[in-house]
Amino acid sequence: RASQAAQARGWHLYLVGGAVRDLLLENDPSNQLMLHDIDLVVDGFHQSADVGAGVELARELQQIYQNSRLEIHGAFQTAALLWHKDPELDCLWVDIATARTEFYPYPAANPEVEASSIRQDLYRRDFTINAMALRLTSPHGGELLDFFGGLIDLRSRKIRVLHPNSFIEDPTRIYRGVRFAIRFGFAIEQRTAEYIHYAINSGVYDRTVQENIKTPALHTRLKAELKLILQAPYWQSALKLLDQLGALQCIHYTCNLNYGILRELVLLEKLLKIQDRFWQPAQQLPPTWLIRLEILISSLEPEYRSKVAENLQLSETSVNRLKKLEAAQVEINRELATCELASVIFNLLQKYDSGTLMLMAVKSSREIRRKIWYYWRDLVHVQPLLKGDDLKKMGYKPGPIFKQILDHLLIATLDGKIKTRTQAIELLT
Ligand code: ATP
Repeated sequence: RASQAAQARGWHLYLVGGAVRDLLLENDPSNQLMLHDIDLVVDGFHQSADVGAGVELARELQQIYQNSRLEIHGAFQTAALLWHKDPELDCLWVDIATARTEFYPYPAANPEVEASSIRQDLYRRDFTINAMALRLTSPHGGELLDFFGGLIDLRSRKIRVLHPNSFIEDPTRIYRGVRFAIRFGFAIEQRTAEYIHYAINSGVYDRTVQENIKTPALHTRLKAELKLILQAPYWQSALKLLDQLGALQCIHYTCNLNYGILRELVLLEKLLKIQDRFWQPAQQLPPTWLIRLEILISSLEPEYRSKVAENLQLSETSVNRLKKLEAAQVEINRELATCELASVIFNLLQKYDSGTLMLMAVKSSREIRRKIWYYWRDLVHVQPLLKGDDLKKMGYKPGPIFKQILDHLLIATLDGKIKTRTQAIELLT
């Protein structure tokens, strides 16, 4: 229907980007074809289509497919049709754009966009394997447009960038390249690797870190790429490759994957595996990709951590966690090192959220880790043996005293001094 509608207006319609790549990789066991994210591009027959063509086509399709939802993104004149109520969940997502070209006013800036031909539209893309188009309209429907050797690179399993300045224009392409390389088992082609080194050595990323006011969209994209990488099953290999390429410097110029961080990341995996058995819903951990990212950020000097987290637009909770981590570590190491009393461990650790405790667990000595674990497994569930109603029945008048009594009972229970309600009542009388 989309191609008929485009054709009726004298436009060509193309399937572009990842969907074409994945269709061509269909027989490749390393790739599971999942067409849930489809990019379509509209172009004129003899000259560029009007800049609003993609949006116009999307509006017409929405009339035909009324169970879809239309979203229009004004800045780049693109439209999306969604076939699911919740875009975070698995859904069919069709982006429709007018063929366009991009200009970067300065390195790592947000691109400025204008309408152009399908060839130029493909040339603005990241890698040859992502820069092919399949024509959906007649004449020549089904024709593959491959101006930059994408098919050869797909067959020879190479990630090749389209032009030398690509990574300077947009550093997130390094992360994308690594993600595709590891996901498909492709190699980063030699020149492409050189362009990455050149871009990193040029220092452009110091700017991206410092000038977050001018490049918030870049940081949004960087965070999105980090999230995709850190939640993928291949996250470890991807991080190692990013490190080899020096690309972790895009997060901060001092960021790298040293032995200590690797150890913490591996420890996190172990702790997460056994976590299910002990977890309380009230102590929901942050998502795993975020803990991994926070481990990476917390390996930086304390003064850089919260700034980096803010630049990456992490939540306020994350930023605060990273800001206070140093002090928390000092306190926990000092107080827990010599203490075995359950109530003291409980009182100390209950001040911290589960994300902080997990960071502490992977960063501390075995002894401290054991105590954090003891808190999660045995102490966090403990309740005072009596309730407010029991106290009323015993003749206490409701008020601040209730809390003091219940806290007192909780401490006695934690420390094993009382085990039953009768013992609790005896203690109070
Ligand atoms: P995935 O299967 O991971 O979704 P994809 O290639 O479909 O892969 P998208 O992020 O949906 O990834 O991007 C769609 C297309 O847009 C890409 O195939 C590529 O052509 C282009 N693209 C996306 N991000 C960039 C970028 N940072 N620079 C240049 N082109 C990009």
